[in-house]
Amino acid sequence: MSIVMKFGGTSVADAAALENVASVVATEREAAPVVVVSAMSGVTDALLAATDIASLQEVFERHRSVSRALLEDDEAFAERLSSAEQEIAELLGAPAERPSERKRVQDAVVSFGEVLSSALLAELLNQHGIVARQVDARRCIITDEEHTNAAPLMTETFARSKSELLPLVESGVVPVLGGFIGATAQGVTTTLGRGGSDYTAALLGAALDVSEIQIWTDVTGVLTADPRVVPEAQTIERLSYSEAAELAYFGAKVLHPKTIQPAIESSIPVRICNSRAPQEAGTLVGPQSETSPRTVKAIAHKSGVTTVQITSLRMLGAYGFLRALFEVFDKHRTVVDVVTTSEVSVSLSLDDASALPAIVEDLERLGTVRVEPGRAIICVVGEGLRGTPGIAARVFSTISDINVTLISQGASSINFTFAIEEERVKEAVTRLHEEFFATKRHKRHRTEGKV
Ligand code: ASP
Ligand code: MG
Repeated sequence: MSIVMKFGGTSVADAAALENVASVVATEREAAPVVVVSAMSGVTDALLAATDIASLQEVFERHRSVSRALLEDDEAFAERLSSAEQEIAELLGAPAERPSERKRVQDAVVSFGEVLSSALLAELLNQHGIVARQVDARRCIITDEEHTNAAPLMTETFARSKSELLPLVESGVVPVLGGFIGATAQGVTTTLGRGGSDYTAALLGAALDVSEIQIWTDVTGVLTADPRVVPEAQTIERLSYSEAAELAYFGAKVLHPKTIQPAIESSIPVRICNSRAPQEAGTLVGPQSETSPRTVKAIAHKSGVTTVQITSLRMLGAYGFLRALFEVFDKHRTVVDVVTTSEVSVSLSLDDASALPAIVEDLERLGTVRVEPGRAIICVVGEGLRGTPGIAARVFSTISDINVTLISQGASSINFTFAIEEERVKEAVTRLHEEFFATKRHKRHRTEGKV
């Protein structure tokens, strides 16, 4: 059994970061790793923004200087780089007319970020005595033709990944692939959508049925709260897939549920590791949560939220009302996050209030509308909430002097979410963290003392 190790853009951003990746891979050599890398940080953005080859000189120069600094023999990579430069120049030089054509070209251009970073890393690993080979991800990840946001064809992807990678792994070679990119069955380059390297890692992990998928990033796993608000926030050792999904909304640092879907379906654990502190265990996300349930896993929050309340007597005993209401948000392409309803009113929260004036105008046809900007959402997450009575009471008594609106216990019953005034969010999160984490630590010490 092997493992997948995925390194994000900041982990391969410069020579020092790449050296660090090589040493991290070396420590896992026994586990037969398959390595997936993002483009160097900023490169995907630069490639997406490029209109001509001149605007990319900085990108090429960055790769050139990193390879010079790292590789004893950088000739092969230098050649790879100049052929990439030529190919990109050709792609950019023939402007596409049709939008579908434009997306196809865009995928072809942007794929070079991962092609180059994986080539560079493979060379570096070899130089470190780790027998590695760059494998073109387009031979493994087979997708539909939805350019810039392609969906993998699972059967083909699994079969191809196995036939491309297993022989290498079995003979002790470390395959190094660029994440994010794939190809149609006809071999045309596609991409899986922004941040897609995690998805590549999960796909390969599922295809090869690995024992663990490691996502290496620059934070120490998932924390019990936002460390900018609660400096004593701790790394959560274990999360269930559902807990991780609930937390995903609150911070980009947590895995996107969609990206780890293949891992979830195969029950493969995903570990979030910190490449700046590789000796730390990070957070393990898996089918089960901790065996000794710690009731609350995290106190997440999000500021800059607007809440909207619609009250209408017409709602009472009527059907079709909720549909009419949500059609308004649909029409204005606005995402609704938390929703709560009573007999005659619906409250909901929005991150993006840019279409609000138009939304309110439409909603007023349905009932009385009250808008409250400047709110924050706090979310208490934990599998242990299911069937642990008194959590809500504990939450509210901890912040009893703060006005709480829009209370919702998620349908999965592993989260408890509510809105407060934005100005008081730091205070509320700090106090809740203290209540659910600091006291717990003291309690544990006390019992330990007794034993
Ligand atoms: N390089 C791609 C991006 O920036 C994919 C990734 O990093 O996951 O979106
Ligand atoms: Mg990323």
